[in-house]
Amino acid sequence: MGEILILAEHRDSEIRDITFEMLTLANRLGEENNLTVTALFPGYGVSALAGSLKGACDRVLVMEAPELENYNADTYLAVLEGLIRERKPALTVIGHTAQGMDLAPALAIRSGVPLVTDCVDVILKGETMDVQRQIYSGKIQADLVMKPSETYLITLRPGCFPGGSEQGKSADMESLSPPEWTGLRRQFVEYLEAELEDVDITAADILVSVGRGIGKMENIPVVEAFANAIGATLSCSRPVADKEWLPKSRQVGTSGKTVKPKVYIALGISGAFQHQAGMKNADTVIAVNTDPKAPIFNVAHYGIVGEILQVVPELTERFKKE
Ligand code: FAD
Repeated sequence: MGEILILAEHRDSEIRDITFEMLTLANRLGEENNLTVTALFPGYGVSALAGSLKGACDRVLVMEAPELENYNADTYLAVLEGLIRERKPALTVIGHTAQGMDLAPALAIRSGVPLVTDCVDVILKGETMDVQRQIYSGKIQADLVMKPSETYLITLRPGCFPGGSEQGKSADMESLSPPEWTGLRRQFVEYLEAELEDVDITAADILVSVGRGIGKMENIPVVEAFANAIGATLSCSRPVADKEWLPKSRQVGTSGKTVKPKVYIALGISGAFQHQAGMKNADTVIAVNTDPKAPIFNVAHYGIVGEILQVVPELTERFKKE
């Protein structure tokens, strides 16, 4: 029986959510195509951690070596290239994360496997594969039809599938020997911790998040007053942090923080996928935007089509009265 191979991602003894999301997709494709699902877990001293994948796939391949203790494109390439040549998985799935973006293109070239990056869904039927990607910040969905191939490679956008370590499976654990390392040019030096921050937005129950729609820095006090009136913490989208209207530590999204507040109020934020990835797990999302077609309304539970500078001061006054 053929297989789907996913590359487990982990750091600091924690398995990244994307690993379980990839397994959700792989398990669905596996069922539809009668393929087993294998997770590759490279690392050093990680066999117990790798065991956490048991309930979510058919097989966990643990490869341990000091050279695999931290992600390194050279060692990971050697491992994956060898495995793809040897096992010829119908599909290899890597996360569309900083690590996956670094690794996948080089792997595709080295192993001669067709690659589609940043997929949001996949339809696999035997040797044909269609994939979905979003372009223009999620405004257009592109369906790509791949040329038939024995094996494919994709990177999966984080946040497109639910995760979960229990997916009705009971995996066999297998230990693999690392390959002979030759020609390693890159070396892991250290992880740099982010600077100490003013406020921890990940701990907030209510976030008032401000986007480019606020127009200019002089308008920030309008949303600040609203946040104070409802006891919320202020966060923002990337352009607001880039323009230094708010500190970088307040940025929500793929290159900012992942938050999970009870209430997330998005003011003048379009809802690009990089932003959504950081707030999609909020319990309740409320959006204010002048554009009724803004993608943020796709994930909002409540929406107001309107101008921030009209809607927000009114809300502030109402809350102040209560
Ligand atoms: P825009 O997309 O410009 O949207 C502004 C919105 O405000 C529009 O929907 C508009 O209709 C609305 N608006 C305008 N005026 C008003 C008004 N008066 N009242 C109400 N609404 C109004 N983005 C992040 O947020 N976080 C990240 O971590 C992040 N990481 C990224 C990483 C990479 C590698 C890349 C390439 C991009 C990243 N981005 C990130 C950027 C992301 O793609 C978007 O560009 C960004 O999220 C857009 O921010 P925005 O919604 O504030 O601005």
